[in-house]
Amino acid sequence: MAKIQAIRGMNDILPEQTPVWQYVESTVRQVLGQYGYQEIRMPVVEHTELFKRSIGEVTDIVEKEMYTFDDRNGDSLTLRPEGTAGCVRASEEHGLLFNQTRRLWYTGAMFRHERPQKGRYRQFHQIGVECFGMAGPDIDAELLILTARLWKALGLADHARLEINSIGTSASRKVYREALVQYLEQFREQLDEDSKRRLSTNPLRILDSKDPATRDILQGAPSLDDYLDDESRQHYDQLKAMLDAAGVPYTENPALVRGLDYYGKTVFEWITESLGAQGTICAGGRYDGLVEQLGGKSTVAVGFAMGLERLILLLETLGLVPDHVNNQADVYVTAMGEQAVVPAMALAETLRNELPGAMVVSHCGGGSFKSQMKKADRSGARYAIILGENEIAQGTVGLKPLRDDEPQQDVAQAELAGVLAGLL
Ligand code: ATP
Ligand code: MG
Repeated sequence: MAKIQAIRGMNDILPEQTPVWQYVESTVRQVLGQYGYQEIRMPVVEHTELFKRSIGEVTDIVEKEMYTFDDRNGDSLTLRPEGTAGCVRASEEHGLLFNQTRRLWYTGAMFRHERPQKGRYRQFHQIGVECFGMAGPDIDAELLILTARLWKALGLADHARLEINSIGTSASRKVYREALVQYLEQFREQLDEDSKRRLSTNPLRILDSKDPATRDILQGAPSLDDYLDDESRQHYDQLKAMLDAAGVPYTENPALVRGLDYYGKTVFEWITESLGAQGTICAGGRYDGLVEQLGGKSTVAVGFAMGLERLILLLETLGLVPDHVNNQADVYVTAMGEQAVVPAMALAETLRNELPGAMVVSHCGGGSFKSQMKKADRSGARYAIILGENEIAQGTVGLKPLRDDEPQQDVAQAELAGVLAGLL
């Protein structure tokens, strides 16, 4: 019978890869903890309506990327394509936003039906951060400063650059949208197909077009910058001053617009040049209108999401995964002969009691001296503990270094943990 395989674009993360994932996740967790962010966990499935209303009906995600299906009772449900909508839904539903500020984060799988390629998958993982109830640019700056700290912690400071823009309040965007459409209408026939369609649905996204002819036309287009209202401009100027003061470098990209409808004022992307076309590793912005749009009390908000696959790919591509990030044992305890099995097991437990930070792997399943030593070597352990009939009789073990040419030595069982503590 043919074997059943994983769904295209949905990856298994294998034991060799999980240490890097754990390293990245724990580093992010640690940095977010330093800034007082709290974790929230939402379901993977939500009502389809939630995403339509928040992300926007005429965005790429809602138009063509969502995994939507009917529940057995006929409700339309969707596998979450991103976390913000669910985070807002959950926060509102449980009164987390009532008269208080919140700094939240979450991590988990997201689902988008895109064409799978390097750095782009159908199931992928994000760490998302959402802050509620803080209107000023200070919290925008904090998000960028903490992200910069994270890059530093991961050794990526020189490999990620920040682009920022202000896309104004929805009122100023409306005026700009009209001016942009009026300008682009003159060149309608020269625009690429997507942009032609977006002229009537989501014209701001045309600024993002990669098509050369469209890009040429955009050269002469009115600039969003000229349409910013005073409030947005002031917010943007203050943000830039805060980033300058904090020493976080950035470039302003007036063409930076995000693919989701809910953004306003600040938008930003962290981009790397080392991953080709899928170079955006973290993206976000302010979404002051979304909570109200989803039926809650008007609550300002700002957030971002980073793609874990891209982040990990970047670390691996640049060789920045630290040596200690691996699944390798410290000590491998062998049992030579039937009568050694039980004492070896007890000895391994004693070592785990005495050396709680060490990875102590017990040999299970018997076998010859040679095959046990082979497994010890493959475990990556630095030391093999050899326990056989003679050692048991003498109350010792054989301590064999596996990573250098040092000779094997006999160590009294009572002293083993102390000796290993000095060696590891
Ligand atoms: P892109 O322009 O690359 O399609 P996006 O604007 O759709 O990204 P967001 O919705 O802002 O991305 O998601 C935030 C981050 O999640 C992205 O910057 C990226 O790192 C990651 N991401 C988005 N879609 C995918 C995907 N299909 N596979 C892997 N990572 C993804
Ligand atoms: Mg996308």
